[in-house]
Amino acid sequence: MSRDTVVERSVLMRREVLVLEDVVKVYMASSVETVALRGVSLRVYSGDIIAIMGPSGSGKTTLLNIVGLLDKPTSGRVVIEGVDVSRLSSGEMARIRNYKIGFVLQFYNLINRLTVLENIEMPLIPRGVPRPERVEMAKRALLRAGGELSWLPKKPNQLSGGQQQRVAIARAIVGEPEIILADEPTGNLDVASSRIVVNTLQELNREGATILVVTHNPEVAHCTQRIYLIRDGLIADTLSPDPSKCIVTSG
Ligand code: ADP
Ligand code: MG
Repeated sequence: MSRDTVVERSVLMRREVLVLEDVVKVYMASSVETVALRGVSLRVYSGDIIAIMGPSGSGKTTLLNIVGLLDKPTSGRVVIEGVDVSRLSSGEMARIRNYKIGFVLQFYNLINRLTVLENIEMPLIPRGVPRPERVEMAKRALLRAGGELSWLPKKPNQLSGGQQQRVAIARAIVGEPEIILADEPTGNLDVASSRIVVNTLQELNREGATILVVTHNPEVAHCTQRIYLIRDGLIADTLSPDPSKCIVTSG
């Protein structure tokens, strides 16, 4: 294979997974307007792992919620794998979210009255996956997330924070989403648990997932391929991470 062909292939393989064009988000709460995003444009390619940093209130969660189809922009375009999702009905948005996107949040957001197994298999239920298959997929996801099968019958609140986050990651990846969105996933964890979470995200990325991680921790941001700094609803800067400062030392 000629060098040109190799280059051409790598360009072709860098599919645009996510395009944001001039995304503005204005919240209206009791007649007070808050401009959370002032025109964010972003291109994310398949296989990217990107960190988003910025002060509290700068619009990071708003951005992730819009990308994750939990919220709609006030203006601007959001294109996921060629589909302009800003124009979809809420039913169509829910479907794309269920199939393509996995969310990991700071406080895990597991349902405490359900078992770990039931939490993990939840995204598969609207897809109509039969129960035996759901159980197999849940087990696989939990192991990939660095968890243990002995947790399956437990309730989330019987586990430590770090363990609950591994369960939450398992739930996020059980349906094999192409995009993983993590909003301060290590914000509540000790260093050892943070390492496990970051290591899992890196592994999922190597296996092909496109990942956006919002973090306050530079040691997490340095584990990615690119750092966007958000300030006041705008991308203020793009930085190159320094892998030697990554919390996971031997990737
Ligand atoms: P970050 O995640 O960077 O801390 P957010 O995206 O949560 O920031 O918030 C950006 C701005 O939008 C803040 O001023 C916040 O108060 C405001 N905001 C966020 N969500 C809402 C909402 N649902 N209603 C009204 N204002 C909101
Ligand atoms: Mg936030």
